[in-house]
Amino acid sequence: MNIILLGPPGAGKGTQAQRLVEERGMVQLSTGDMLRAAVKAGTPVGLQAKAVMEAGELVSDAIVSALIGERMDAGTGSGAIFDGYPRTAAQADALDLLLSERGQALDHVIELGVDEDALVERIVGRFTCAVCGTGYHETFKRPVVDNVCDVCGASEFKRRPDDNEQTVRTRMAEYRAKTAPIIPIYESRGLVRRVDGMADIGQVTAAIESILDGR
Ligand code: ADP
Ligand code: AMP
Repeated sequence: MNIILLGPPGAGKGTQAQRLVEERGMVQLSTGDMLRAAVKAGTPVGLQAKAVMEAGELVSDAIVSALIGERMDAGTGSGAIFDGYPRTAAQADALDLLLSERGQALDHVIELGVDEDALVERIVGRFTCAVCGTGYHETFKRPVVDNVCDVCGASEFKRRPDDNEQTVRTRMAEYRAKTAPIIPIYESRGLVRRVDGMADIGQVTAAIESILDGR
């Protein structure tokens, strides 16, 4: 099973991917997470990507497709969830090639539909556990006990440097200009399923699971 979670920044791709990982043993391939790890480690890719990410622009297609290929070779368990990739038509072509070279294919492209107005609020309220990476939101998904991660019990949290209103606007413009145009490509192949991303987190998960279960 290979699925793409597609939607603008803050649509809930990472949140849903984490749930599918926990519940189904799928593997999340998030280019954003891979790039942030590269920046943190100070690798050559990280050095190239840092300023681009801070500006909310897109890192080069060649870099992100190479990261995805490496991660696919590390194994994708019971299935791969592509989160934040592909983001351009060139990346969509690269993914087709990466899959076909490995004798695999795409099963579904799940588009999370959200109101743009809600996205800024979602992103500026977003934070994650500094230890295990579980995602939270100040209003929509607080830890059960304040300041304690539900999953690992840590009490250190972090926010992304690009999660500010100005950068979010650039990221949304990039989405509209470069990512939204790939949806018709997948539509013409009959792969796109739309899910209401404005629903509660649990309801969104249920809608995705019913697609994965062929319902
Ligand atoms: P993406 O990976 O698409 O950028 P995230 O999954 O990180 O988005 O979600 C952005 C923020 O919105 C997070 O803080 C998350 O907790 C919150 N969130 C995700 N899905 C929902 C939802 N359905 N309703 C309300 N808040 C949500
Ligand atoms: P994300 O975690 O998906 O919100 O991505 C954070 C940032 O990483 C983006 O704003 C881009 O700068 C960069 N990025 C992540 N994935 C990609 C991709 N597939 N193509 C280009 N840039 C990406």
